[in-house]
Amino acid sequence: MDNPACGVILRPMNTDIIIVGGGLNGPALALAAAQAGFTVTVIDSQPVPVHTDPAFDGRSYALALTSARLLRGIGIWPVIAANAQPMLEIKVTDGRAGEGPSPWMMHFDHAEIEEGPMGYLVEDRHLRRAFLDALAADNRITHLAGQTVVAQTVTAGGVQVTLANGEPLDAQLLVGSDGRKSGTAERAGIKRTGWDYGQTAVVCAVAHDKPHSGIAHQFFMPAGPLAILPLTENRSSIVWSERRARAQELVAMDDAAFLNALKPAFGSFLGNIQLTGARFSYPLNLTLANSLIAGRMALVGDAAHGIHPIAGQGLNAGLRDVAALADVLTTARSRGEDISSAQTLQRYQEWRRFDTATLALATDTFNRLFSNDNPLIRAARDMGMGLVNSAPRLRRGFMRQAAGLNGDLPSLMQG
Ligand SMILES: Cc1cc2nc3c(=O)[nH]c(=O)nc-3n(C[C@H](O)[C@H](O)[C@H](O)COP(=O)(O)OP(=O)(O)OC[C@H]3O[C@@H](n4cnc5c(N)ncnc54)[C@H](O)[C@@H]3O)c2cc1C
Repeated sequence: MDNPACGVILRPMNTDIIIVGGGLNGPALALAAAQAGFTVTVIDSQPVPVHTDPAFDGRSYALALTSARLLRGIGIWPVIAANAQPMLEIKVTDGRAGEGPSPWMMHFDHAEIEEGPMGYLVEDRHLRRAFLDALAADNRITHLAGQTVVAQTVTAGGVQVTLANGEPLDAQLLVGSDGRKSGTAERAGIKRTGWDYGQTAVVCAVAHDKPHSGIAHQFFMPAGPLAILPLTENRSSIVWSERRARAQELVAMDDAAFLNALKPAFGSFLGNIQLTGARFSYPLNLTLANSLIAGRMALVGDAAHGIHPIAGQGLNAGLRDVAALADVLTTARSRGEDISSAQTLQRYQEWRRFDTATLALATDTFNRLFSNDNPLIRAARDMGMGLVNSAPRLRRGFMRQAAGLNGDLPSLMQG
């Protein structure tokens, strides 16, 4: 469209916002933005049936209390609530396989904070299904599944992306929610900082004889942490981080051999255990985008910060990006400002930059400190755990952090 007043060509917009990446953070942002009145296009390389297959991804997520609030705000929570397991307590122990836990531990009980459970365990398949159905039900959202974005350019007043089939799409704002290897960030010239952990997380679910009582366990082993996270019924999700070569052996084992390898680390506190599905593995690395924004573009979720799963905070951090960006865009529009101007996007970057960098540093430090068999470091961290455990104010501080209650909360997370 020619604009004779300024002599530039303004292209018609397909939607206000294009989101590249329909994993978890992309759909959450699409729903938050659509409910605030924006039109949105979500583009994902994966065709829909892949996402709805329970075997697509064996992960479960420990969702912080504030993430559950966001999901409630965008209408997802009522759909998944029956399949969400409240996390009532967290027990953190130092240990070596076969030796049992060290006597030093940290015990966090939700009864010590007034807001309720610190979070909920939700299986990936339930969350994805709920997102896909909600995207389909909202007529302000266009969901292009099975389409890959291959190019992007800043245009006068907006941005244009090109799909692999050559089709161009225009919007005012582009959001990269395309995961750890974000092509959106790369095409915008954003460099990344990070390193490989040399660890791989082996993920699976087990059924057990005894009830877990809503208690999540984190055992710190010399090669990496083992998390046992309560799912609905007598089931738990396992996230077992091991050195890469050992993890490959664990994945290649048959079920009986894998259970024999798991049991000395898992212990017998939940009675007999059985595998309930496939095993999945995720090589672990840290990858931080050096900037969360570029011209007419913002990054959310793993595209902005891929961190170690040691504290189960990756998706929670992504959902904070989503809620903060939704607030920034809504405020900009209500003031009559350009939603993708440098000033608007800078407000988003300022809100999220410190929090994401601190979280990345904290998870990296925890992993280095705990995936370590040095007797001096072991003694120091055991004393540290004992100290935190005996100080109610420190304990409550940790619990509020796990629940996502600290910091400047976006409106969708305020409850
Ligand atoms: C073992 C493990 C356990 C974890 N446990 C927890 C936990 O308990 N709690 C928690 O909060 N977090 C946890 N996390 C982190 C969490 O899984 C991630 O933060 C989250 O899945 C990231 O979602 P996302 O939507 O940002 O990215 P992704 O899920 O990676 O989605 C990116 C999407 O972009 C699409 N895409 C990429 N490029 C293109 C393109 N060019 N065109 C179109 N589409 C494209 C891909 O197809 C993909 O669907 C865990 C992570 C791991 C590895």
